[in-house]
This record gives sequence, C-alpha cells and structure tokens, in this order.
Amino acid sequence: MPTLDKASAQRLAKAHPLLRKLFTEVAKRADIVILESQRGRAAQELAYRTKRSKARFGQSAHNWTPAIALDVCPKPIDWKNTKPLVKLAKEIVLPLAKELNIPLRWGGDWDMDGRTEDEKFVDMPHYELSPWRNFAKDAALFEG
Ligand SMILES: [Zn+2]
Repeated sequence: MPTLDKASAQRLAKAHPLLRKLFTEVAKRADIVILESQRGRAAQELAYRTKRSKARFGQSAHNWTPAIALDVCPKPIDWKNTKPLVKLAKEIVLPLAKELNIPLRWGGDWDMDGRTEDEKFVDMPHYELSPWRNFAKDAALFEG
C-alpha cells in the first residue's frame, strides 16, 4: 500500500475533515503527493501575481483553517503531462467522493478550452469541497 510522505501528511492534517477522510482513502489506492493545503495571505497574493491563482486572499478555498481545498498530484510528478492527473481524478478521487457522499469539485472540470498543457496544470491538481463558500462560513481565514 502506498504511504504519504511526511510533508504531504502534514498538509493533509490541515485540511477539512471531509478532505482528510477522502484523501486518506485515495492514498491507499494511489501514490500521491499533496502539494498544498492552506495558503496564507502573502502566499496567496504571490500566487495571484505570478498567475498561479486567479484569486486574491480570501477568495480561494485554500485561505482557510481548516483548508477547504487541496492540490494533489500522482507520483511521479510530470509537469509536462496532464494525463496522470485526469486519470487520478476520474478513476479514483471523484468516484470515491461520490461513494463517500463528499461534495467535491475538481479544478480539471473548470473550462480548459484554449489552455496550454502548462496552463492546465494550474487547476488540475485542485480539489475543493463544494460549494466552498458554505464551508468557509464555519472556518477562519488563515493569515499564514
Ligand atoms: Zn488549489
């Protein structure tokens, strides 16, 4: 059985209990790395300026305690190939979320028309509870 590396486990621990439950199960079925959970004010504004995020601080599901979004990639990470990300989402994460009755939205389901492979990578690792603003009502902003 694959196990999460230490950094991934630490990031998972900062996520909403429903995301923890889901990705604990995902990690039993696929070799994954959790790239990001909480993103504080400075990190979010940097992500915005460098176009890795379209959101300002407070407008992203990553800006909360607990985190309402996780960025997850299958190992090994290949920044030039989105196919493993699609496979992870469609064959493992989304069916499991449905089975566990966890309301989940995948970044890869957003409009990808006209995007390059590089640009697709911005959202394809992203999973958030849906609608995330409802979950934010019970969360606090994470300043970082
Ligand atoms: Zn994300």
